[in-house]
Amino acid sequence: MSKQIDIKSMNLDELTEYLLSIGEKKFRAKQIYEWIHVKRVRDFSEMTNISAKLREQLAQECTLTTLKKETVQISKLDGTRKYLFLLEDGNAVESVLMKYKHGNSVCISSQVGCRMGCRFCASTLDGLLRGLTPAEMIDQIYSIGLDIGERISNVVVMGTGEPLDNFENLLRFIELLTDENGLHISQRNLTVSTCGLVPKMRELADHKFQITLALSLHASNQEKRKELMPVANSYEIHEVIDACKYYFEQTGRRVTFEYSLVGGVNDTQQDATELGHLIGGMNCHVNLIPVNPIKERDFVQSDKDVIYAFQKKLEKAGITATVRREMGRDIDGACGQLRRKHLSSVQ
Ligand code: SAH
Repeated sequence: MSKQIDIKSMNLDELTEYLLSIGEKKFRAKQIYEWIHVKRVRDFSEMTNISAKLREQLAQECTLTTLKKETVQISKLDGTRKYLFLLEDGNAVESVLMKYKHGNSVCISSQVGCRMGCRFCASTLDGLLRGLTPAEMIDQIYSIGLDIGERISNVVVMGTGEPLDNFENLLRFIELLTDENGLHISQRNLTVSTCGLVPKMRELADHKFQITLALSLHASNQEKRKELMPVANSYEIHEVIDACKYYFEQTGRRVTFEYSLVGGVNDTQQDATELGHLIGGMNCHVNLIPVNPIKERDFVQSDKDVIYAFQKKLEKAGITATVRREMGRDIDGACGQLRRKHLSSVQ
């Protein structure tokens, strides 16, 4: 029998069903689930309270997805770590660990590549190869936690890929990550960022998770948004904002708007005024991100005073806005750059 069971992507019910189907007792499922998701073992042989016979059978029938750390770059400025992990099929994904006073935060990828085409983003330049399995998403967190020997308290799905374009796997990932029988990260400490796939945003809202939804807005009107984000051709800006309002209604969770400031493109006082009109009155927060220039495009960062004037304008309109601190400045390279560098070195 070929290894076809992705055991790390199974929830406890599925694992129980599988173990019952091979003649095992129910309590074994809980033991094995704990080995995988709490102790985070990297091999079946480490499951020492499981019989050798069962461990062997599991090893034959199941894959225990574990990512291979290919490289890690560590910032001397703030301890930020950028990881490049190899997947079992040879593809590579990036994840980032950021150390804050309130705890360790990991930013994970949800796909290998991306098909959303945002103009300033490096992750989308080669298109989408495939979505990550729930196990591949969660093992980015497990691997980093084990690597640093510390607890991970926050997770953001803001790395390469569009999480809502890998929806079923994302749902399972959320279930596993926040499961009280697993690592049990609070839903409130998980943020999922989307470029605005409206029907999926609404579907996510209907699940009523307590996770934070971050919406990549990047423009204050439809015309400008279309120039930066091809997804705006499918969903009009007001539809996207309505979906954010719906998310708040369903979950009571304040939505975060991400707005990457691109010099001379979306950073004028007029843009800030329009943004104020677009989202004024909503229970929301704006994250202003100085664009991280990529060499394949000629976008530049806005000047510091322009960034702070933009923030001020929003605050005057009653909208809370913060300028994102740039972490790991010395190991920089925009999102997706590490993987691209890796790709060009192996090709
Ligand atoms: N696909 C999802 C999540 C991944 S991108 C999304 O679009 O939200 C995570 C965030 O980084 C998004 O807000 C994205 O627009 C932003 N981003 C991508 N490349 C960037 C760059 N070069 N500079 C600044 N922000 C960037």
